[in-house]
Amino acid sequence: MSQQLPASQDVLIADPFDFARRGGVINGTVDARSFERLADVLEEGAGLDQRVRYHLQGLRQDDKLFIVLQLEGAIGLGCQRCLQAVPHVLESENRLMLLAEGEALPDEALEDDSCDPINVGHNFDVLAAVEDEILLSLPISPMHDSCETPAAAVAKAKDSPFSVLAQLKSDKGNK
Ligand SMILES: [Zn+2]
Repeated sequence: MSQQLPASQDVLIADPFDFARRGGVINGTVDARSFERLADVLEEGAGLDQRVRYHLQGLRQDDKLFIVLQLEGAIGLGCQRCLQAVPHVLESENRLMLLAEGEALPDEALEDDSCDPINVGHNFDVLAAVEDEILLSLPISPMHDSCETPAAAVAKAKDSPFSVLAQLKSDKGNK
């Protein structure tokens, strides 16, 4: 079963400062496979559809403007041991503090690690921000809690033909 998805179209916020000021909202779903920088680390399987839901909310707080970015979904990454898909659950919320292009970071932002400052101009690229957020969330070496390298699985089967035979018998017995 393969699904053909239309190529992702750019989602742009023409004026991110205005978006934040008026508490704008943008929702959408994106196929993670459409992200160039992410495509290499994705692995199909485990019933994962590689889709990520995103929710952006403009926010004004203490005279500062933010875009709150929430992600939700599950993508498949290649397991470093068995090479099969290992699910990576995305459930994040990040506050992006909007700074004009060339605007220096205010001192208090350095101490506040609950948000990430970003310099933005016109046409804020929503999907690029979503991709950045996913890339930051990736584990260094994704791995199942318990699995075997393909070579180890083969070696085990060779080592004990009787256990394989016993397994076959018990499978039959169950039917
Ligand atoms: Zn594995």
